[in-house]
Amino acid sequence: MTARFPGALAAWAEAARVRSLNAHDVRPAARYVLCWLQQALRARDNPVIDAAICLGNDLGLPVLVYHGLREDYPYASDRLHRFILGASRDLARECRQRGLASVHHVDRAAMREKGLVYRLAADSAAVLVEDQPTFVARWQSARFAARSDRAVFAVNAACLVPPALLGNDIGSTSAFRRRHEAVRADWLRASDMRPTVPAYEGPLPFTPDRLGTSTDAEIDRLVAAADIDHSLPPSAMFPLGRDGAVAKLERLMDAVLPTYAAVRNDATNPAGASTLSPYLHFGIVGPREIMATVAAADAPAGAKEKLADELLTWREWFHYQARALVAPEGYDRISGWARDTLKAHATDPRPEVETLDALLHGETRDESWNACQRQFLVDGWMHNNLRMYWGKRIIAMTPNPQTAWATACYLNDRLSLDGRDPSTYGNIASSFGGGSPGKDGPAIYGKVPTRSDGSTRHRTDGPAWLHAAATRSGPELVVPDAVPTDLYLAGKPPR
Ligand SMILES: Cc1cc2nc3c(=O)[nH]c(=O)nc-3n(C[C@H](O)[C@H](O)[C@H](O)COP(=O)(O)OP(=O)(O)OC[C@H]3O[C@@H](n4cnc5c(N)ncnc54)[C@H](O)[C@@H]3O)c2cc1C
Repeated sequence: MTARFPGALAAWAEAARVRSLNAHDVRPAARYVLCWLQQALRARDNPVIDAAICLGNDLGLPVLVYHGLREDYPYASDRLHRFILGASRDLARECRQRGLASVHHVDRAAMREKGLVYRLAADSAAVLVEDQPTFVARWQSARFAARSDRAVFAVNAACLVPPALLGNDIGSTSAFRRRHEAVRADWLRASDMRPTVPAYEGPLPFTPDRLGTSTDAEIDRLVAAADIDHSLPPSAMFPLGRDGAVAKLERLMDAVLPTYAAVRNDATNPAGASTLSPYLHFGIVGPREIMATVAAADAPAGAKEKLADELLTWREWFHYQARALVAPEGYDRISGWARDTLKAHATDPRPEVETLDALLHGETRDESWNACQRQFLVDGWMHNNLRMYWGKRIIAMTPNPQTAWATACYLNDRLSLDGRDPSTYGNIASSFGGGSPGKDGPAIYGKVPTRSDGSTRHRTDGPAWLHAAATRSGPELVVPDAVPTDLYLAGKPPR
């Protein structure tokens, strides 16, 4: 693929933040530079928007930001739709404050549009998209770049350090940490570009939704009118948009960081986790802003280092890994030894197999697992310390290792606001056999290390907490006949 990086975009490409997705040239005789956002839903400190402004300033063209929400993305539900629309609303508001035009569309029965990004691209000099390594944003950007006649550039907005900058040869988390730590300080400074061209006010190929002025009630009406899964309700734990993210940042500074190093493994302690992952997944907040909050906090150095290690080493390591995989969501990404040992034990008796209905609703025979699952079901999030137990137990609760993988990914992706992420598949792969093999031990698991619920159950009030968490009332979900396998087993994105 020919990389053609006009003007100032060349520096972005040199810094490995931007890559070319097709071989088309930029067309300067255009109305605007199109910035198509799918998941990085923030107007400030957003490298996709900044790169678009950079190109627009060079060409003397305004930037037009576009975000559209369809009904047919996998797991579209009231929970995901409402959270996304809250972010899209604030994107519109903050683009305006930044001197940029943004246009939004929400598909619903009365107002369906086809091929909007292609129609918008027809008047553009070039299109900037996000460089996401998993799920819809990845598939759609690749498909669009292959079909469009415009130059398409992908910009990494998810990571502090562009993964491509780190080379292609890192094989372990410790090597990744060393390489990342050596350069991360260079990326901590925010770099909001200023548009030198007035906001676009020209013609559009459709009538946009005025999301920027929508109230919460109007957002609820848009959600209700969409043909999506209405059995999964929004989460009360995650307030919408920038206000929600800012509240979590304040909580991080005041309540979480001061004790983070000591209590982050305690699922029973509400101050043990930042609960920022949904906002990170949808790009409402970026790692740079979180690190600025961490730097400003009055907290012990050890706590700050621990948070930085989770956010910058572990999270960005999974982004780095996913980028190199053909199918980051697929079973075959699990390490070879783990697949071998799980296969060798595939015919072991499985007395603990549960139905998909029981798994989805957290109504299995394992109280601790139900406590974990009901966090996903009710909150759309799960505490870090519970997730490894949750993931590993699914191997015994399903008929074979492949179904276990597809089930874990499905539950995480459908229910959790932070699902469908490089961290989803990377961490589930770790729970199915990260690190080195253990001794060929228990039935079903073989050399895959197991995990007990002891870190929660053995706390003084652990049993009472687990019982209460396992019996929280949750929504009654629509249950499919089986979990999807095309994506999770064959690595094939839906058409
Ligand atoms: C089986 C399993 C599935 C998981 N699925 C997801 C998922 O779908 N989406 C997701 O974002 N994370 C996932 N994680 C990683 C981790 O559990 C969550 O990121 C974390 O619990 C989110 O809560 P928090 O924001 O309060 O985390 P905090 O403890 O406050 O950490 C701050 C941030 O650091 C990052 N982080 C922390 N732990 C990890 C980790 N183990 N791997 C990568 N990044 C980490 C996250 O971005 C997190 O928001 C999974 C872990 C396991 C074991």
